[in-house]
Amino acid sequence: KDYTKDDIRNMVKSEHVEFLRLMFTDLLGSIKNVEVPVSQLEKLLDHKLMFDGSSIDGFVRIEESDMYLIPDLATWMVFPWGSEHGKVARLICEVYTSDGEPFAGDPRNNLIRVMNEMRSAGFTAFNIGPEPEFFLFKMDENGEPTLKLNDKGSYFDLAPMDLGENCRRDIVLEMEKMGFEVEAAHHEVAPGQHEIDFKYADALEAADNIQTFKLVVKTIARKYGLFATFMPKPLEGINGSGMHMNMSLSTADGNAFYDPDGELQLSQTAYYFLGGLLAHARAFTAVVNPIVNSYKRLVPGFEAPVYVAWSGSNRSPLVRVPSARGNSTRLELRQVDPAANPYLAIAAMLEAGLDGVRHEITPNDSVDRNIYSMNEAEREDNHISNLPDNLHNATKALQADPTMRDALGDHLYQSFVEAKKLEWASYRQSVTKWERDQYLEQY
Ligand code: GLU
Ligand code: MG
Ligand code: MG
Repeated sequence: KDYTKDDIRNMVKSEHVEFLRLMFTDLLGSIKNVEVPVSQLEKLLDHKLMFDGSSIDGFVRIEESDMYLIPDLATWMVFPWGSEHGKVARLICEVYTSDGEPFAGDPRNNLIRVMNEMRSAGFTAFNIGPEPEFFLFKMDENGEPTLKLNDKGSYFDLAPMDLGENCRRDIVLEMEKMGFEVEAAHHEVAPGQHEIDFKYADALEAADNIQTFKLVVKTIARKYGLFATFMPKPLEGINGSGMHMNMSLSTADGNAFYDPDGELQLSQTAYYFLGGLLAHARAFTAVVNPIVNSYKRLVPGFEAPVYVAWSGSNRSPLVRVPSARGNSTRLELRQVDPAANPYLAIAAMLEAGLDGVRHEITPNDSVDRNIYSMNEAEREDNHISNLPDNLHNATKALQADPTMRDALGDHLYQSFVEAKKLEWASYRQSVTKWERDQYLEQY
């Protein structure tokens, strides 16, 4: 919605909003909030509201820590859950430096930059339909999360097996009040695991939606005494949580991936985009599977991808082509997990695909049989490579690909690589329960 400043002033009055929550996202994907009383509204609308960015992950050096928050008025939303101190509305902001330039370390600014590249290449939108999955755990009497699941349900189960159902239904209702169109909400394969799919949107709005969605899920779960987590693999031995990304490009003429005369009714653009995704998949793994724990999900046997391949029919590969055609023609990248910073993940996917279009990268043939039943030689014959198997190797693959550096921009790229190296170094030194169970008595 294209709200004007006057629209915002009017909505503040008519909705009795008392506080403005100004949101932006840091390098690692955490939502940051600066909350101000409505008395600050004019300052905010005049782009004069400053904050200190020095303590934000991946942000700045001390000498340039004063930053401006420039609200994106289209993101205006009143939180449906009240507070005893009055209603709270949120605006997602762009972070600007004190010189009035978009700050290069702001992942949202970076996505805007990559989307401008997309427009120069002749496309009008990068449509993203996410399928985030999450677990609901019980909380203890101190409000701390436990590892106790709150149900024994499974895929598409209904009550009374699915005790998380009321909570999930409430999440959907709150999202609808906030203007989301929820397309599907169901129990997932693992006990305590849920999925909520919302309608596709252009890249920036989709990333904003994912961030808002996480906030809603966590907030409503707490009302039910539950803790919601988007950690990719909270429990071993059962499915982890992915965030499949459905994607397509539009031009002024409509869906650029659809061609009724093309092979599988996919356009040449769709094939090149797919070629780009596959060519850069190993490199963007660190971005779309960004934490040590992400790699505990990317193992055989739990419906998560392990190999770089695509299929028009099979569900196991990295990229799948869902059967819908016409305006719904799309590619589904099954690799992404919900720990990913959505602004960085979408920028990386878009840059990878555009690189495929620019350089006319033709994907290898589709693999329509079960890759997990192939041996190494068969995989080699079919040109199927592995995704990186841990964060260390993923970070190395990222560093080897200049296109992904372009996707993140120098500032974010450097901070990201540095943060991931530190994360790996810290993990490498940890001694786990698994090791003590295996070795303490044996040696
Ligand atoms: N939970 C699975 C994953 O880790 C995906 C299951 C599904 O196909 O929705 O990606
Ligand atoms: Mg699912
Ligand atoms: Mg899916």
